[in-house]
Amino acid sequence: MKLQEKKFQKRLEDFICKRCKTHISGTGYTDHCPNCLWSKHVDINPGDRKAKCGGLMEPVGVEIKGGKSVIYYRCQKCGFKSRVKAAPNDNFEEILRLVSRPL
Ligand SMILES: [Zn+2]
Ligand SMILES: [Zn+2]
Repeated sequence: MKLQEKKFQKRLEDFICKRCKTHISGTGYTDHCPNCLWSKHVDINPGDRKAKCGGLMEPVGVEIKGGKSVIYYRCQKCGFKSRVKAAPNDNFEEILRLVSRPL
């Protein structure tokens, strides 16, 4: 079967976290490591995988809005900033640690 480029694609990709070596099974929405919360600079807009950078995205802070956590990232390689919603299986201790950090 040939895979074709589509405008939007939900990707099921497994990956190994470059930071803590956790093996992550992709759900199609996984964009960061649930253990250490680090991410990779692969998206320009969430899920598009259009960024060529590939640098590690450091979680720099967490904001809690209406009971939901939003993780703020900065790319270590190019300085690109983004934010994503925390996933239900994210390491809550890491999130709490980041909440106390000023953005
Ligand atoms: Zn990790
Ligand atoms: Zn980058």
